[in-house]
Amino acid sequence: MTYLKSQSKRSPQRSCSICRVKYDKDALIRIVRSPDGHAVIDKSKKLPGRGTYICPDAECIEKARKSGRLAHSIGAMTDAEFWDELTEYAGNMGMVMGLKLRSILGLSRKSGTLLIGMDNIEREKRKVLVMTASDCSENVREFAERYEHIALDMNISELSEVIGSRGGVQIVGLPLSSGFAISFNPRPLT
Ligand SMILES: [Zn+2]
Repeated sequence: MTYLKSQSKRSPQRSCSICRVKYDKDALIRIVRSPDGHAVIDKSKKLPGRGTYICPDAECIEKARKSGRLAHSIGAMTDAEFWDELTEYAGNMGMVMGLKLRSILGLSRKSGTLLIGMDNIEREKRKVLVMTASDCSENVREFAERYEHIALDMNISELSEVIGSRGGVQIVGLPLSSGFAISFNPRPLT
C-alpha cells in the first residue's frame, strides 16, 4: 500500500525511525517501552513512556525487525509476538488509508476538484499532487515524475471506477492547496 507524503500543515509531524521520512503523527505507529521493558504498540497514542514511531510499511517493519533499531532506540525487548502484532496492525492501517484515498478521489471528482488526464494537470496553474494507475504507460509515468507523485495501488480500470469514469483514466491530480490534497494522512512512495 502506498500513500503520499503528508502535505498537512495542521497536524504535528514525526519521522519514521527507520526510513526517516516525516509524516503526520496519525499516519505513523507509535511504539513505547512498557514498564516491564517490552515494546508495545501505543494504539491510543497516549501511553506514557519512551516512544518511537514507525510507518505502517511492510518494508520498514522488516528492516526494524532485522536491524533491531526500533527496539534499540527505546531500549525495549521485542519478541515474535510483537512483530506479528505490528505487522497485522500496520496491514489494517494500510487498508483504512486505502479506503480513505478512494473516498477522497470520489469526493474530489464530484466536487469538480479532481484533474483528470495529463492535459488538465498541465493546464492547472497551482501546484498539483499527481496520482498514477499502477499500469499507466511509460509516457504517463515520466510526466508524473515532474510533480509530487504517488503511484496508486489501483490499476486503470479500478481508478476509473473509483472516480466514476467510463474507463481509461491513467492519471489524476489534485491541487495541493485543495482541502482534498491536505486531508491525506499518507505514506510515501516505496
Ligand atoms: Zn518508514
